[in-house]
Amino acid sequence: MLRLSALPALSDNYIWLLADAAGQALVVDPGEAAPVEAALAHDGLRLRAILLTHHHNDHIGAAAELAARHAATVIAPHDPRIPSADRRVGGGDRVALPAPAADFEAIAVPGHTLTHIAYAGEGVLFCGDTLFSLGCGRLFEGTPAQMLASLDRLAALPDATRVCCGHEYTLANAAFALTVEPDNPALHARIAEARAQRAAGRPTVPSTLAAERAANPFLRTDAPAVAAWAAPAGTRVARFAALRAAKDTFRA
Ligand code: ZN
Ligand code: FE
Repeated sequence: MLRLSALPALSDNYIWLLADAAGQALVVDPGEAAPVEAALAHDGLRLRAILLTHHHNDHIGAAAELAARHAATVIAPHDPRIPSADRRVGGGDRVALPAPAADFEAIAVPGHTLTHIAYAGEGVLFCGDTLFSLGCGRLFEGTPAQMLASLDRLAALPDATRVCCGHEYTLANAAFALTVEPDNPALHARIAEARAQRAAGRPTVPSTLAAERAANPFLRTDAPAVAAWAAPAGTRVARFAALRAAKDTFRA
């Protein structure tokens, strides 16, 4: 049984930590070392592996330092903008770690960046800046068609999958989502839950894929309310592009 935790880092990042009962741990997207060191020390864990989703510095900034200090294995996408890694993985590759014993599939999710990958396995999805709770990443490098295909891949994972995203953006995303689907009860339920979590000083993530499919407009381009919002945009990609463009300029 693996224990999952979200370590707040930088201004609004989460570094994900997965640990087994023997105290062996992996982290995902360590943009900063201090929160990882604090968690390792607090729980008496040994850092064995570091998984990276994409090259942005808020996700990889402390990877080399942590890898050197703890002799941890770094797994990263094929991208020279991530200067060092012990293993490079791409879409479809299996990532089977001996310690902590964990098995993931790397999924290519171009859109936020072209070489972004997600890791799915152990009931968990580490999706970096591709899928957020009630939102999705900005299209810095990819096209709307690429990002929609990436989100479709993630949305096909099992309902109970715990969605571990790279940032605490849920309530900001909620404000935009409400303009798209003001009458979606699942959206209102998710917002109430997220407000209570923030009021208690807790992360709003992990979310679940079932909750995101029910409430996240970027996974709901086929929902009648979202199609009506995007009219007269015709295709799914056009609807997704309209959503993403509107979110880019949205101010609550
Ligand atoms: Zn990013
Ligand atoms: Fe980021």
